[in-house]
Amino acid sequence: MKLFLKFAGFLALIGVASMSFSQTNEITIRFIGNCGLYMTDGGSNIYIDFPYKSGAYNYMEYDVSELDSVKTNPIFIYTHKHADHYSGKLVKKLAKDLGGRIYSPGNIRELLKLSQNLNDFTIEAFKTKHRYSFHHFSYLITWHHKRIYISGDASNAETIAALKDIDWAFVPVWLLTDAKEKGLNLGNVSNMFAIYHIGPGNRITNKSNDPKIKLLIRQGDLIKIKY
Ligand SMILES: [Zn+2]
Repeated sequence: MKLFLKFAGFLALIGVASMSFSQTNEITIRFIGNCGLYMTDGGSNIYIDFPYKSGAYNYMEYDVSELDSVKTNPIFIYTHKHADHYSGKLVKKLAKDLGGRIYSPGNIRELLKLSQNLNDFTIEAFKTKHRYSFHHFSYLITWHHKRIYISGDASNAETIAALKDIDWAFVPVWLLTDAKEKGLNLGNVSNMFAIYHIGPGNRITNKSNDPKIKLLIRQGDLIKIKY
């Protein structure tokens, strides 16, 4: 009986999840691969560090269906232009075909104006260090009053540590290591750390079962942020 109840509860959850994609009271974030994310509030469609070159530097591959499923009027935002985050060829074609706009460290001023076009949305950009890249930015998106930090490949944790009231932080695992080594307090992240950009050689487990850590290992995973 207990098992049945659990199962019924699970089914109910699935029902809610599939319905809610079109509702406007939550932000849905889909993990595509590496630092690639698809974010939507049901109205606007934002792609972070996607499309990239599938399988670049032995990082995650993705199916071509990912490219086919990009929505119309997409907004593409990039932290930097390394191939495991960015494919100029792919994104330019998608933007042309679907009426999209592309933002990267090359046009940050334009990116900051995005708040004029999107509903209840602002974005702040922080120049952050990443080896082998002179132009790397991390972002803080405030969307429907939810604050979502996008670290990209940033190597130093000082930037995120200096911010206030972050709900969700998308960070590579080395950023947490850096914070720990420097004794930086990341208590400013209230809800969850989503660990992304996990490579084929990385063996990362959440050994202590920290409820504030979600490992993005499975491509296609959905995160829902209610507002
Ligand atoms: Zn990378």
